[in-house]
Amino acid sequence: MWACCWRKTGTRPWATTAREVGLYDLVFLHAPSVYDFRERATLWGPISDLVPSTPVFDMYPIGFATLMAHLQREGYRVRIANLAARMVRSARFRPEKLLHSVETRAFGIDLHWLPHAHGALEVARLAKTYHPAVPIIFGGYSATYFHEELIRYPFVDYVLRGDATELPLERLIQHILAGTPPVDVPNLTWKDPQDGVHVNALTYVPDNLDDLILDYHPLVKAVVRDRDLLNYAPFSHWLEYPIMASLTVKGCTQNCTICGGSAFAGRRLSGRRRPAYRSPEKLAEDVRRVGMLSRGPVFILGDLRQPGMDYARRFFKAVQGFRGAAIVEFFYPVDRAYMEELAAALPDFLVEFSPESHDPAVRRASGKGYSNQGIEETIAACLAVGARRFDLFFMMGLSQQTPESALQTVDYCRELLSRFDDGRLIPFTSPLAPFLDPGSRAYEQADEFGYIRHAVTLEDHRRLLLQPTWKHILSYETRWMNRDVLAEVTYEAGFRLNRLKREVGLISLEKAQETEARIAEARALMREIEGLMTRLDERALARALLALKSRIDAANTSTVCDKAELDVDVGWMPFRVFNLARVGLER
Ligand code: SF4
Repeated sequence: MWACCWRKTGTRPWATTAREVGLYDLVFLHAPSVYDFRERATLWGPISDLVPSTPVFDMYPIGFATLMAHLQREGYRVRIANLAARMVRSARFRPEKLLHSVETRAFGIDLHWLPHAHGALEVARLAKTYHPAVPIIFGGYSATYFHEELIRYPFVDYVLRGDATELPLERLIQHILAGTPPVDVPNLTWKDPQDGVHVNALTYVPDNLDDLILDYHPLVKAVVRDRDLLNYAPFSHWLEYPIMASLTVKGCTQNCTICGGSAFAGRRLSGRRRPAYRSPEKLAEDVRRVGMLSRGPVFILGDLRQPGMDYARRFFKAVQGFRGAAIVEFFYPVDRAYMEELAAALPDFLVEFSPESHDPAVRRASGKGYSNQGIEETIAACLAVGARRFDLFFMMGLSQQTPESALQTVDYCRELLSRFDDGRLIPFTSPLAPFLDPGSRAYEQADEFGYIRHAVTLEDHRRLLLQPTWKHILSYETRWMNRDVLAEVTYEAGFRLNRLKREVGLISLEKAQETEARIAEARALMREIEGLMTRLDERALARALLALKSRIDAANTSTVCDKAELDVDVGWMPFRVFNLARVGLER
């Protein structure tokens, strides 16, 4: 591509530095899952009920923040344009206009989560149409997995592989600016017009995260520099609910069957033999610095016990005195002694725990070998030491999970809620949707785990995203539940859990009725759309779906539970404005 740009432009566009001519060296673009989602009517169902973003997954990966911070520290001028969030926030926002007008030496597009297969490719195509000489760089887990297919799209020039690409990206940008071939850039798949595709060795696998900048200060400065807040917002709803993440680890010691971030997947995708950790003292500093910017909770990603109890204790010591809300997650049960230490260090803590199923056999098949007693002792320990809330997540679409078992999970929730009845335990259910994670054991060893895959290539996944309902978008079914059954069980479990929450007083009558009405409407729409699919050809179907768009859109958010149930109260002013201004203006 470097040679190709040169020939097409007839000059070396990198001859002046970006700063001199007011250009960016790199612009990161985050696409919606389906680029033209606003002109389509898709029944997304409950696929994003339990994440902060909307069904088009408008949240960009945390890697944008660390990559940008790294490049800015090295003197490059970088920005982020969250096209997806802007499209969600405003029907008038035209991403084509932004893509056309931005001046940059390179574009970076995330294909981290596979549901972006359509939008990311379309954004790349548009960027290349408007700027034929500007190289397009892809990165992320899914880009890594499908790198050889991705590089063959005519508008893709580079794919950076692996779970840590700060240094490879810096070196690649140096080559792009110098107009030299990136033969020595580790983890890079690239092409040139003469020799075709090159796959450089995946040798950059850092064994700790201490070089990363994870405090969001460079983002705040970029917002002030560019006088542009909306493009930097991590997701559309973030300005009202500024939850932020602190990263403890890349990679994992665990092997959950459905997880593309598991130890198994990390070895295959990123060449990672063991997790890379942030040192506990730096992590504590990250948490404090994030807490200075926002009143939203800090989500501490990863189980603090993964590197050992010494790590957790060093972190607790370093973070002592932090008064903000902190969300912690556990990969396996905790005991009371551990929770007492955690609660002493982070007094305003909330818990997220995902046993997946109430049925130990299903849980074992999911790669989680602990008992129900372990779940219950974990809840008891957390509540006893003062957890503000305990969110418990169950999933539909698991190996060995029958419809009966999936619905019995709600019975188990009833038992738990009668025992832990002070309103702090909140159970949730959601489907494994829309895709199996590439690289996960469920994806790679589908037969062994009873998964039947309906998509193999990146292009298969891209096409699936254009189906009219989430059931038809699903990339799999299981030996125990086909797509029809899985969708029905998901709605039924959501329906029963919603009633249970109302019964025990976890949600108001009004909220319960709203959710129940949405589930009923989603079920009715599914039936209607399936009827249309059997009767109409493709064009007529598209027209008929658009006629249903307002109903479909209304049923798309908070389908089986109210998304707001996951939010933590952040008060009327969710930001610490004075601190933000100080950080934004400091040099
Ligand atoms: S789901 Fe399992 S494998 Fe994946 S990050 Fe969490 S604990 Fe690790």
